[in-house]
Amino acid sequence: MAAKGIKCVKGVRDIFPPEIDIWKFIENIWEETFSLYGFKEIRVPIFEYTNLFQRGIGESTDIVEKEMYTFTDKSGNSITLRPEGTASVVRAYVEHNLNKESPFNKFYYIGPMFRYERPQKGRYRQFYQIGVEVFDDNSPEIEVETLEMVNFALKKLGFSKYELNVNSIGCPECRPNFIKILKEKLNENKEKLCDDCKRRIDTNPLRVLDCKKESCKTVINEMPKITEYLCEDCKKHHLRLLKLLKGRKINYVENPLLVRGLDYYVRTTFEVVVENLGAQNAILGGGRYDGLVKELGGPDISGFGFALGLDRMVIALNENIKNSFQKNPDFYLAYFGENVIDYSFSILEKFREKGISVYTNFKGRSFKSHLRLANRLNSKFVILIGEDEVKNNKIIVKNMKEGTQREIKFDDLNSFLDEISKEN
Ligand code: AMP
Repeated sequence: MAAKGIKCVKGVRDIFPPEIDIWKFIENIWEETFSLYGFKEIRVPIFEYTNLFQRGIGESTDIVEKEMYTFTDKSGNSITLRPEGTASVVRAYVEHNLNKESPFNKFYYIGPMFRYERPQKGRYRQFYQIGVEVFDDNSPEIEVETLEMVNFALKKLGFSKYELNVNSIGCPECRPNFIKILKEKLNENKEKLCDDCKRRIDTNPLRVLDCKKESCKTVINEMPKITEYLCEDCKKHHLRLLKLLKGRKINYVENPLLVRGLDYYVRTTFEVVVENLGAQNAILGGGRYDGLVKELGGPDISGFGFALGLDRMVIALNENIKNSFQKNPDFYLAYFGENVIDYSFSILEKFREKGISVYTNFKGRSFKSHLRLANRLNSKFVILIGEDEVKNNKIIVKNMKEGTQREIKFDDLNSFLDEISKEN
């Protein structure tokens, strides 16, 4: 007997048709876009040794502190389901010495990520990201090209209302000074902050700037802006980025509070937000991570990338586009009678050989129940096959909407199917 009441784990989901077609549509557009911009796919494992994420993402980040799915395997190793993709891609780059042949590499990945977060609309414990990483190009130009690519794909996907936020969070040269000043100011206002932020003042003060609680926001708005504390090189980089963005007519908003949740970022950080997603309104985010390859044991090679949330992109996609996927095959084959199955199979095969999708059902149905099912599946046409059709080598095609029907000889089937292919 089947076990009763087994449900899917809290915060994770099943994705059914026709929604899955929306996912594929989005994936395809990104993949086509990546290929135009020279990105190649990389597939990395979905679990890694835990210390990769501890070192890569940072011990005092929310992800590492609270959100990782970590377990001990049967050999006693601490393993973690990946909470994001960059650390794994960098680990692969370093482990396989990809820099030896040519340090410059452009990769993309697609796959599930796992974070133990509080589930809500647009926030899941297993969610899907598409991400890109560029190694060995530390210029603002590559950042602009990548952001232009983001625009390119979002437009193709029919997004018109979105906002690109950009910031610079400096580098190990200039950030410590900013953090020192920020800490002082935050401590002066400690009592007004939430418990998490009180704790973050010591562990990760930059993250306070990211807090969404109203009470914290008032304090945060009074805090010094990181962009005013950049060293000369970071400032030059940032100003050049902004200039190039303007030159390419890429709309952006400067957001000095955009610090992002992962420790590895330096200089440029960015995020794309949309209106119709509620609290979880970020569909894409990324930045520069020049020290990460070295941190994970590789040479001093720069990195830049982003990840987008597929789940959120599906929710945010324009309803008209989504509705265009509510489609079942136009054709349903209804057969009835003795010795008609071989003939029916050969007709089904003919349709499929011509690339035309067709349904049937083999439960020994009557014509009537076939038609009922065809209606339920919203089929536009039903192919009728009975003993008479087999004997006379023909099929009948019934137009369900108009109620008309047409007889097609087996010998004429190819030209009939060509006609339909053209119409579709
Ligand atoms: P991050 O790796 O945190 O920079 O996130 C990149 C993108 O992944 C975000 O902009 C979201 O669109 C998406 N994302 C992050 N966490 C979740 C989650 N728990 N559920 C759904 N999407 C997420």
